[in-house]
Amino acid sequence: MMIGIIGGSGVYDASILSDVKTIKVHTPYGSPSDVIHVGKFAHHEVAFLSRHGKGHVYNPTQVNYRANIHALKSLGVTHLLAVSAVGSLQDHIHPGDIVFPDQFIDRTTQRKQTFYDGSQVAHVSMAEPFCPSLRNQLKESALRLNISHFEKGTYVCIEGPRFSTKAESHLFRSWGGHIIGMTLIPEVILAREAELCYATISLSTDYDSFKEHPVTAEEIVNTMRSNVDKAKRILQDVIPRISRERACGCGSALKNALM
Ligand SMILES: [Zn+2]
Repeated sequence: MMIGIIGGSGVYDASILSDVKTIKVHTPYGSPSDVIHVGKFAHHEVAFLSRHGKGHVYNPTQVNYRANIHALKSLGVTHLLAVSAVGSLQDHIHPGDIVFPDQFIDRTTQRKQTFYDGSQVAHVSMAEPFCPSLRNQLKESALRLNISHFEKGTYVCIEGPRFSTKAESHLFRSWGGHIIGMTLIPEVILAREAELCYATISLSTDYDSFKEHPVTAEEIVNTMRSNVDKAKRILQDVIPRISRERACGCGSALKNALM
């Protein structure tokens, strides 16, 4: 087993790992966003990849999600933890809070969502898009560390890179969205196709556009700085506790999906 971490906005380095090797991976889908750092944490092998690349060079549409997931899988990753910055669509989810989403609504328009676009077709189940066991372990870590969090929520993924209009923000609220971001799709779908356990630590940075004072990129960066520390503490607590046994169905997601 190997644990993968995809770092998002604000989480760019593999500083929690020891004995780090840097690996450049090529995939049939092109190059991943960056080199992959593989090292040790507690008794686990851990692979770290920066989603937006060194220096945040890829915007959410440009990220080569297929290459990222394929590269991590090819190194042996079985469990994948992703970190992402999100906006809040709800008054009670404050900037600085952490959400472990359990559902999503997809509003992206320009992304390849499958590895199976050749002669074989796969229809993977997305009824429960995240690994229930990893999500539960994240929740337990946040409880142990006394970090304010929401154990579930619906993540609305927009194409970006622009933020929402007020009308859109109110629409997503009326649909039951809790948080909004730009990178979950297709990462979560491709992780399922790759039969990985996948869960996300979503760091709330702002109130999207539905509040009087609309979101700015500068505010997000400031809140991110304090959020990143929380995400790292959760990762450090949860990684040693992830077990080799996979009681969830993630490891056999393709069993009834291939045509
Ligand atoms: Zn799983």
